[in-house]
Amino acid sequence: MFMEIETKSCQNCKKDFIIEPDDFGFYEKIKVPPPTFCPECRLQRRMSWRNERALYKRKCDLCQKNIIAMYHELAPFPVYCRECWYGDSWDATSFAKDYDFSKTFFEQYKEFYKNIPRLALWQRNVINSDYANMAAESKNIYLSVSAVAGSENVFYSKCVDKSRDIIDCLNIINGSESLYENVEAQSNYNSQYLLLCRSCMDSYYCVDCINCSNCFLSNNLRNKQFCIRNQQYTKEDYFKELEKFNLKSRASREILKKEFEEIKKIAIFRFGNINKAVNSTGNNLLNVKNCKNCFEIYDVENAKYCYRAFNFKDSMDFDYGQKSELLYEYTTGAMNDYNVKFTYSAMEFIRNADYTESCRNCSNIFGCISLRNAENAILNKVYSKGEYEKLREEIIRQMNDMPFIDKMGRVYKYGEFFPIEISPFPYNDSLAQEFFPITKEDAKKNGYLWRDQDIKSFEITIPVNNISDNIDEVSDKILEEVLGCAHKGECSHQCNTAFRLTNYELAFYKKHDIPLPVLCPNCRYYERFKVMPALKLWHRTCMCNKENHFHGTGKCEVEFETSYAPERPEIVYCEKCYQQEVY
Ligand SMILES: [Zn+2]
Ligand SMILES: [Zn+2]
Ligand SMILES: [Zn+2]
Ligand SMILES: [Zn+2]
Ligand SMILES: [Zn+2]
Repeated sequence: MFMEIETKSCQNCKKDFIIEPDDFGFYEKIKVPPPTFCPECRLQRRMSWRNERALYKRKCDLCQKNIIAMYHELAPFPVYCRECWYGDSWDATSFAKDYDFSKTFFEQYKEFYKNIPRLALWQRNVINSDYANMAAESKNIYLSVSAVAGSENVFYSKCVDKSRDIIDCLNIINGSESLYENVEAQSNYNSQYLLLCRSCMDSYYCVDCINCSNCFLSNNLRNKQFCIRNQQYTKEDYFKELEKFNLKSRASREILKKEFEEIKKIAIFRFGNINKAVNSTGNNLLNVKNCKNCFEIYDVENAKYCYRAFNFKDSMDFDYGQKSELLYEYTTGAMNDYNVKFTYSAMEFIRNADYTESCRNCSNIFGCISLRNAENAILNKVYSKGEYEKLREEIIRQMNDMPFIDKMGRVYKYGEFFPIEISPFPYNDSLAQEFFPITKEDAKKNGYLWRDQDIKSFEITIPVNNISDNIDEVSDKILEEVLGCAHKGECSHQCNTAFRLTNYELAFYKKHDIPLPVLCPNCRYYERFKVMPALKLWHRTCMCNKENHFHGTGKCEVEFETSYAPERPEIVYCEKCYQQEVY
C-alpha cells in the first residue's frame, strides 16, 4: 500500500507533527496505531516515568535495612533493596489480578501497581555501588546516572560507557580514563574540562580537539601537542606556562573557567557531532545507519526519535538501553529485548511485551510488573498461550472502546505510553523536569504529581566560604566534614545544600591538582548540562562568512538540521565550512 506523509495535531501541545511513510511501515510491523502525541511530547511523557537523581533515605520493606531509593517513603508500593528484590523470597505472581472490563486499562494498572514491590535503585549486575541509580554491568559507581557497560570508578557523572576513573562528566564513551569535567568525550585520557574532544590526552579547557595531547585553552585543533590558546609552544615552554596557571587554586580555576566560556564562543561547532553515519540526522551519533532524529546513540541501524542507547536496531521512541530490537515507546534499561512496547524498564530478556515495568526473562506479557521467568501473563497472572492471546486482543479492543481520559481530556487508547498523571514519580523528581521544565501550577493544572522539596537540615561543618582554596591545604580530615553548597538550596537544581567527599575523589583531586568543589553534585550536574544542545532539530543556515571558502564573498547558504537552537551562542557551521576551518 502506498502511504503519504500525514500531518497530525498533537493531543498534548496541539502543534502539528508529521508521520512519514516509513513510520507507518514500522507501526504496521509492530501492530500499533500511529501516535497521537508529537515526538517531543512523547519523549516528555516517557521521561516523566524516569527518576534519575531525586534519591531518598528509607527502609527496605522486606529486610527493613536502611537504604537509598528513588522512591520516597510515601510512595504507594513496597520498595525492596537490591538483594531482596533480586532474591527468591517473594513471587510477583502472588499479586496477580484478573482483568476488569468495567474499568479502563490505565485506571486498573494504577490500582494494580500499588501492591507490587519495586527495586529501590535501578541496578543490574553492579558491584559496590549502593548510591548509584540506573547503573548496569559496572563497578564502584557513586551518585552517577546511567554508568554502564563495564564502567568503573564513576563519580557524579551521567551517561558513561566502558570508561573508568571518571568524575563530574557527561556523555563519556569508548574507553575513556581519568577524566574530570569532560562533556561528549570519546577515548580521552587524563584530561579536564574538555568539550566535544576525541582521543585527547593530558589536556585542559579545550573545545572540539581531536587526537591532541598537552593542549590548553584551545579549540578546533587536530593532531597537535603543546598548544596554549591555539599557539604552538616547545615542550619546555609549555610546562613552564602551565605552572603559571596555578591549577591547584580555585581562584585561579575560576579565571580559567571564564576564559573557557569565551573559547566556547569563538570555537567553530560542526552542525552536529556525527561520525560514521549513513543517511542519519540528530546529534552525537557514531556508527549509525538510517537513524533519524536520534541523540547520543552509537552502533545502531534503523532508528528514529531514540536517545542515549547503543547497539540496537529497528526501533522508535526508545531511550536508555542496548542490545535490543523492535522497541517502541520504551524507556530505561533495555538489554536483550525484542518487540517491547509502552514499557518502563524491562530489565533483560523480554520478548513480546506491552505496558510492563521491571520484568526479567519473560515473553508474551501485558501490564506486568516486577515479574520474572514467566510467559503469557496479564497483570502478573499467568495464562495458557491460547487464553493469553485471546485476552490480550479483548483488552486492546476494550482500551480502544473505553479509553482512559486524563484530567486535560487527552485520550489514551491502546498505543499510548503510560499517562504522566499515573507516573509513580512527582513530575519534578523525574527526568522530564530537566528537559521539559514546568511550574508547580502547570503540574497541578495537568494533574501531574508534584513534590515540594523536603526541608533539608544537614549540619554543615564547613560553610562554603571556608572551603580551602588550594587542594594542597586539604587534609584527610575533610572526609568527616559536611560542606555547604554555594547555591544554598536557592536554585532550581535539586540542590542538596550540603555534600561530603569520598576517599576516592579526594585522592583524585589531589593527584590531578583539582581544588575542592563548592557546589553539591546536583548543582554541578546542572551547570554541566547547560552546555548540551536540545534533543530536537532546527532547520538552520551555516553561520560562516569567511571569504576564503567555497562560497566566496558573502555568507554560506548551506542549510542543515542541527540541535543548536538559533538563540544559542555557539558558532555553527556546515560540514564543508567546518572542515575547511579545522583541518
Ligand atoms: Zn506535542
Ligand atoms: Zn531488603
Ligand atoms: Zn547545591
Ligand atoms: Zn557553510
Ligand atoms: Zn564557509
